[in-house]
Amino acid sequence: MTRLRELGHDLIPLEEVRETILRHVDRLPAEEVPLLEAWDRVLAEDLAVKELIPPFDNSAMDGYAVRAGDLEGASPERPVTLRVRGRIQAGDPPGFQLSEAQLPQIGLPQIGHPQIGAAARIMTGAPIPQDADAVVPHELTRFTDTEVTFTAAAASGQNIRRAGGDMKPGEVPVGKGTRLRGPQLAVAAALGLARIKVSRRPRVAIISPGKELVWPGEPAGPGQIRNSNAYALAGLLREGGAAPEVGRIIEDSTHALRREFRRALEGGVDALLTTGGVSAGDYDFVQQVVREDGSPGYVFKAAMRPGKPQVFGVLGGKPLFGLPGNPASAIISFTVFVLPALRKMLGEEPVVPPVFPVRFTSDFSYRGGRTFLLRAAVEPDFEHPGGGFRVRSIGGQDSSFLSSLAAANALIQLPAGRDGVKAGEILPAWWIHPA
Ligand code: AMP
Ligand code: MG
Repeated sequence: MTRLRELGHDLIPLEEVRETILRHVDRLPAEEVPLLEAWDRVLAEDLAVKELIPPFDNSAMDGYAVRAGDLEGASPERPVTLRVRGRIQAGDPPGFQLSEAQLPQIGLPQIGHPQIGAAARIMTGAPIPQDADAVVPHELTRFTDTEVTFTAAAASGQNIRRAGGDMKPGEVPVGKGTRLRGPQLAVAAALGLARIKVSRRPRVAIISPGKELVWPGEPAGPGQIRNSNAYALAGLLREGGAAPEVGRIIEDSTHALRREFRRALEGGVDALLTTGGVSAGDYDFVQQVVREDGSPGYVFKAAMRPGKPQVFGVLGGKPLFGLPGNPASAIISFTVFVLPALRKMLGEEPVVPPVFPVRFTSDFSYRGGRTFLLRAAVEPDFEHPGGGFRVRSIGGQDSSFLSSLAAANALIQLPAGRDGVKAGEILPAWWIHPA
């Protein structure tokens, strides 16, 4: 059933457009992948700790494992010398004992003659002897192969990393919905997981209608321009966690659009993305196809600048994002609408990326009446007492300009009800990509 929301001339706040879109986007199923392939994927299950990490008490230093009690009162004037009873390397099994009784039970190399008041040479990460309670770094001692001399007392527990000090059973160090980067993969590895459940990467077809478009590397005839949007979107999709499938440049016709949509859907994509053909021009066929084939189909006039015309529909059960063709409008629309939709497909939390505060460093005027999405380069502001981020530079804001977008890293949201911002004002921004 085709259900069309013809929204007439009413401008709709971008938040409402986004909520409408998000209602029609579902989370993709999870899949299990080898840990090394899980980088940049979104975790589909909580990582649960089942054992103590680290699994055993171990040394934080290369030094000597001792009983703190044996070093009581040690000072440069009254040094304490202990026998070195063994050497414990990272990878040796726990169980070494400083005290005599247990010595024969373990197969570690024993040096010198057992006696009361002993130490063991120990390496970082090696298991602490059962009866030691401190480690003294070797650079604070004088030592030979058989003896070690201390000139200061030791505190019980010093330089010992306790079993479970990092993670304990029942804890969730990395939660469902987290994007996995190096440190999160390290947690999974430390927990012993060789495979991990992640959301399927959304496969997104990029289709480029426009008689004027040619690929880079091809000669551009009179009246032709390069298809830059396909590259912008391929990059942004990757950064958003999707797998872009760059499709064809096609003529401006409903026939060509339908053919490419069908081809992509038969190929199993999870979403369709077009740029251009959504305004009210004579060759703007994307909105016509969405009106006729979408179930539902929406043609929005979003109360934002740039990016007023927006088309969204569900085609063959998959979301179709019909972004405006102007390069800046396309990229900004992607950030505002498509990125949250991808995050929802991935189960990434929060679905809408959080805004952050940016301080203006000079006055800025803009056309009001619609939310103005200002592309700007922002930078950390250590000079301001409140910290945060400040505007570094603002390039040309024409919706066809690419250069200022390439120089920008943020999109600052300026209210529709005004037409200017004063130096010192703080407004919310999204990252296009982090500083
Ligand atoms: P349209 O909505 O199709 O009229 O496109 C609006 C503007 O965006 C026109 O100047 C188009 O040439 C331009 N445009 C459309 N698609 C692309 C694209 N893939 N790459 C670069 N510019 C484009
Ligand atoms: Mg066009």
